[in-house]
Amino acid sequence: MIIIMTPGASDVSIAAVTQRLETMGLKAHLSRGIHQTVIGAIGDERRINETGLEALPEVDRIVRVMRPYKFVSREGRDHGSVVEVCGIPVGGQQIQVIAGPCSVETPAQMEEVATAVVAAGCRMMRGGAFKPRTSPYAFQGVGVEGLVMMKEAAKRHGLPIVTELLDVRMLDTFLEYGVDVIQIGTRNMQNFELLKEVGRTHTPVVLKRGFSATISEWLMAAEYIAAAGNHNIIFCERGVRSFEDAYRNMLDVTAVPVLKRETHLPVIIDPSHAGGKAWMVPALARAAIAAGADGLLVEMHPRPVEAWSDADQALSPTELNALMVELRGIATVLGRTL
Ligand code: PEP
Ligand code: MN
Repeated sequence: MIIIMTPGASDVSIAAVTQRLETMGLKAHLSRGIHQTVIGAIGDERRINETGLEALPEVDRIVRVMRPYKFVSREGRDHGSVVEVCGIPVGGQQIQVIAGPCSVETPAQMEEVATAVVAAGCRMMRGGAFKPRTSPYAFQGVGVEGLVMMKEAAKRHGLPIVTELLDVRMLDTFLEYGVDVIQIGTRNMQNFELLKEVGRTHTPVVLKRGFSATISEWLMAAEYIAAAGNHNIIFCERGVRSFEDAYRNMLDVTAVPVLKRETHLPVIIDPSHAGGKAWMVPALARAAIAAGADGLLVEMHPRPVEAWSDADQALSPTELNALMVELRGIATVLGRTL
């Protein structure tokens, strides 16, 4: 961190900054110019209370050199990390497509879903048992029974499951029912208590981007999970809110290369909640893989028109198959597999 003093700062003010840094366990390196004095703080700057420093007399501004996130940062790492989900690598050379319905509905539906997921060549299944709906009168999900329906179908087909946790009070139930990946939805990205609790488990977490969160807020949210001990984090971009109303959210494809540079953790894309219409999903999915995403989270329903939620954006099993064929081609060009 660099502390820039206002022009002509007095020796007393400079000494006050130096002393404050030393009480924080850092060394101060003084550089006096003709007009301005700059103080370099040497040591782990994450321990610095920035606001306290900036309030000292004749401090103009401070500039951070290190990233404020420690565990999720790519700093000091040569290559990306792989998050293992029941032996399936996320973040390596192989791209993972996680497919399934918005909502878990019935045991028969989940059996059809699992069959279609495997037939398309996907290795993980999604489905929401607890749904964060905008309206309290909309279908809220089938609840705990949904976890059973999903897990049973998944077991028959050898698929790990990804499902959203809305409430910290359900965490033990999720672990008891063998949820393989906990999804933190866009509306909970900054529910810090929830993040700290999932951080106490070792279950992989898909952390969706808040629909109006900056990339640095998203990285800090992931840091909450990692700082509590769980480093099995997968970032999922799902579109952000914008001025445009021709689609549900604006897919921020730029977030992929930016995150890949900032963090060592895997990054996936949810093209379904971005576009909001099934016909947009293939184009967004292709863009995501081409941009370097490690995978996708895609909504698929055996009969989209009958889906209990997000019917408009669900792919049919046939459409998922066709998409997987296209994506395999893109993966090959990039030297990856699908
Ligand atoms: C979902 O994946 O079903 C979901 C609700 O997504 P998001 O949190 O991105 O809206
Ligand atoms: Mn949905």
